Amino acid sequence: MAFKKIKTLDELQTWRQNLDGKLAFVPTMGALHDGHLSLVKEGLKRASQVIVSIYVNPTQFAPHEDFDQYPRQIEDDIRKLKEVGAQTVWLPDTQDIYPNGPEITVHAGEIAKTLEGEFRPHFFDGVTTVVARLFECVKPDIAIFGEKDFQQLQVIRHMAETQKLPIEIIGAPIIRDENGLALSSRNAYLSVEEYKIAIQLNRIMKEMADGQIDEKQAHQKLLEADFDKIDYCCSRNSATLKPENPNHILAAVWLGKTRLIDNMPMLAVK
Ligand code: AMP
Repeated sequence: MAFKKIKTLDELQTWRQNLDGKLAFVPTMGALHDGHLSLVKEGLKRASQVIVSIYVNPTQFAPHEDFDQYPRQIEDDIRKLKEVGAQTVWLPDTQDIYPNGPEITVHAGEIAKTLEGEFRPHFFDGVTTVVARLFECVKPDIAIFGEKDFQQLQVIRHMAETQKLPIEIIGAPIIRDENGLALSSRNAYLSVEEYKIAIQLNRIMKEMADGQIDEKQAHQKLLEADFDKIDYCCSRNSATLKPENPNHILAAVWLGKTRLIDNMPMLAVK
């Protein structure tokens, strides 16, 4: 079957009406790497069709953030999707996603207020708004999100549950490079020098996950490694994201203009 590139909502709806079998959906903002492609592979295991959307969503960026600089490389992305076996890509227009202008229509719940929510207060409402609209248009049976954005995955699960969406939400493991750095489209912003610092994040988080160092020591080590700023590096409960009953480490740190996030389970705690 030929690879299909869909642009308009009309095309998407006609395609969806004529589709047989189970449909898996992978929403992305493009600049695809092996992390994104692993979600496609997961989808192909669970459904007969995989559709990927590529849309840099304006409502999840604050005015001072990197919406304009965010890497856009559609032709390269499409080549990668074809290679991995995705059948369809949707490149939505802002007009189709936000027919009434880019406004927030779906608010993320309580779980969105902590961690990322403290440092990027606009972010999760933008994510739930766009994902709800993408779901409404694509009508997938399954949607796959990366554990790389751990809190985002929990926020989406919560949204799907509270809205009783007939969509199975699947979390897929973090894909890292050979030095342990979690793949991210934003890694392209890192200079060679910054990359050498960035790969320390995973090492320091592992020490914390192993129980060798506590939160204070982890902060100290991150600053010694030359990270510029730490938004958070802490242990939380993976289901509630609250400090009680911690079993998961989550971190967000800055290197120059680049913000890195990562997370991992605490090995000593089951
Ligand atoms: P983004 O394009 O950054 O919005 O990401 C689209 C999807 O890919 C989200 O569900 C992310 O969590 C997921 N993703 C991004 N990086 C990785 C990674 N390194 N490993 C696994 N999934 C990832």
